[in-house]
Amino acid sequence: MLNRVVLNKFAIVASIILSAGLALAVFAADAAKPKKEGYTDTPMGPGGKWHVHDSERPNPPIITPGTCGTQDKGGTAPSDAIVLFDGRDLSHWQSTAAVTDVPPKWKIEDGSMVAEKGAGSAFTKESFGDIQLHVEWSSPTPAKGDGQGRGNSGVIIMRNYEIQVLDSYDNVTYADGQAGAIYGQYPPLVNACRKPGEWQSYDIIFEAPKFGADQKLIKPAQVTVLHNGVLIQNHREIIGAMAYKKLATYSFHEPELPLMLQFHGNPIRYRNIWVRKLGQAE
Ligand code: MG
Repeated sequence: MLNRVVLNKFAIVASIILSAGLALAVFAADAAKPKKEGYTDTPMGPGGKWHVHDSERPNPPIITPGTCGTQDKGGTAPSDAIVLFDGRDLSHWQSTAAVTDVPPKWKIEDGSMVAEKGAGSAFTKESFGDIQLHVEWSSPTPAKGDGQGRGNSGVIIMRNYEIQVLDSYDNVTYADGQAGAIYGQYPPLVNACRKPGEWQSYDIIFEAPKFGADQKLIKPAQVTVLHNGVLIQNHREIIGAMAYKKLATYSFHEPELPLMLQFHGNPIRYRNIWVRKLGQAE
């Protein structure tokens, strides 16, 4: 009996010491953790979620940015991008938009993918909605043909919305069909084309159209494009799916669809293609 009392007392004392130790450890760990700069006594921002300079607001994920390309060598992708073509293989691409796994008839040459005669367009196996897309391209040299016949291809987002690829260096065509145009809709703000054979870049920020449960359009697609680092489409509302000699209209489609590199009979070269899926901002 006495032993049990002593044992109980011992257990109580031990647990008090342990709890105190634990509390001290937590306190020490807390003290060691650097306090994030910021405030929680400042005015509340819109939406009532975070204070101005809120110290509790989560910081965004850290990524490693890519590097810029040069005329000799493509750049590298940011660490959180899906690399669709790195100069080595066409494993992300197929010959139709449907899931067939048949590789496109494009060849790899000096780190670029090139559409040869009769190649057909190339489609990504993966589907995308809202994206940031980086593409580098180079039109054939010496330049052959005129207007729409010279270095024609296209970055066709969701296989519906075309950012025109064309050799528009010293080559005039209808404005809404030159390089950087939303084909058949809006010309680029400026012509930032480089000479044929030189490497050029498109950086595209695209917001997919939204359709309601009745399959009717709720929100049209929007696109921003930089051509060789120059803004050429500034948050443009897209009128509809790419059309030739017709006014573009929307037809219901899935929220995510493959990207497409258009084959238009000309051996355009592509390299360093990467995409980042864009989540909803807070
Ligand atoms: Mg085209």
